[in-house]
Parts: sequence; C-alpha cells; structure tokens
Amino acid sequence: MNKEEREIKFKVWDNWNKKFLNYGEVDIWDLIFQEQKLMEEIYTDGMANECLEFQQYTGLKDKNGVEIYEGDIMGGVLGGLYVKWCDKCKQFQLHILNTNECMACGGDLHWSEFVTFDDNEVIGNIYEGVLPKYENK
Ligand SMILES: [Zn+2]
Repeated sequence: MNKEEREIKFKVWDNWNKKFLNYGEVDIWDLIFQEQKLMEEIYTDGMANECLEFQQYTGLKDKNGVEIYEGDIMGGVLGGLYVKWCDKCKQFQLHILNTNECMACGGDLHWSEFVTFDDNEVIGNIYEGVLPKYENK
C-alpha cells in the first residue's frame, strides 16, 4: 500500500505502559517502522489485541480543533458519552460510558446530528478518563 494514499489515522493506546504511544496523529505505518521491535514482540506473542488499542480518527474535529478519535469522551451537554464504533449501526456513534449503550440504537442521538453540534468538546478518553484540565469544568 502506498503511504501517500492513506488518510486513515489512529491513536494507539499502549496497555502495558498505560499511555498513548504518540498522542495525536499516529500513522500506523510510521508506527510499524519506528516501533518495529515493540510490534514484533507483541505480534510474536499474539497479544496485539491485549497490548495495543488502535483508536481510529472519526474525521471530525471538536470546537477547539481537536481531532475526535474513537474512545474519546465528550464534555458539555454530551458529558458521559464517548465515541465508539457500533456494529449494528455500522458507523461511529456516541455511547453511554457506564452501559456501553449506543445512543443511535437507543433512538436518542444519531451521529449525523452530533456532527452538526457547535460545542462538541473532547475532555478525555476511555483509557485516561476525563483529563485533569477538564475535571472541574
Ligand atoms: Zn448503534
């Protein structure tokens, strides 16, 4: 695959070290080359799914220009909701943090409505929780 043709981006959560390998823009091919040793260790152990969580970019940005990735927790009126792929809807949807319930399947809020909101704000993610700077908001 030609690297220039790719537009899909990921954030990668490292379950071993409990941190994002490169917070923000992670190109999977760069990751494979830069983190080759890590990837080899993980794949030869057959533990990729347990150790690395690939969070795909949704193609949306929040009101601050922050790219919204799978696993991101939203703030404001959407507080308590996070972004997750819904197998039933076959697209990204907001889900309820505690129950993992899809908002679109529940008939409450479809992704197509969410994208029209003006005050979307990413305040954390499912791995780190609500980031400290948003805790008292
Ligand atoms: Zn759904």
